[in-house]
Amino acid sequence: MTQERFRGEDRSGAGPALAFALSAVLTLLGLTAFTLAYASTHPSERPFDLLRALDAGPDWTLSALGTTALLTLALVGLHEAIHGALTLALGGRPAYSLGLVHGFLPALRCSAQLPRGGVTRVAVVALAPTVLISALGAVAVAYAPWGGWLILPLALHLGGCLGDYWAVYAYTLRKQSEPI
Ligand SMILES: [Zn+2]
Repeated sequence: MTQERFRGEDRSGAGPALAFALSAVLTLLGLTAFTLAYASTHPSERPFDLLRALDAGPDWTLSALGTTALLTLALVGLHEAIHGALTLALGGRPAYSLGLVHGFLPALRCSAQLPRGGVTRVAVVALAPTVLISALGAVAVAYAPWGGWLILPLALHLGGCLGDYWAVYAYTLRKQSEPI
């Protein structure tokens, strides 16, 4: 075999309960971090456009939830596009599929066939979307006029990236146990 296979998104390897709990912890950490980013440039405002929308009544709440859902989907699309672009840039072949994580959670997956290049190459392809989207997202939260709307989608995105972290971890363990 001259190809390394890397599958992202649903390869958490953990049971559904543990994966859900870890995702929730990551989402809460993200929520805290992005709220702090917002508060750093908006010290006197409530740091959550969704919470402000809840005050404004049910119609507003629905459109706020819709906006949040659409932004979250847009981040997922961007995330997968970054996986794919990097895979191509590193000489590999990306493939996309739709599926269910743990049999119930719909997810878009990107798997990559990469030329041999070791853990670093896999880590770059797997982790770049999370790092780029979270870092640029934090800047947008702080400075864009609509930045508050990104807080919850960015936090959900961070929690949803669990499979990527796990893929790198599992790949690293497998590499270490292989004879040289
Ligand atoms: Zn991913």
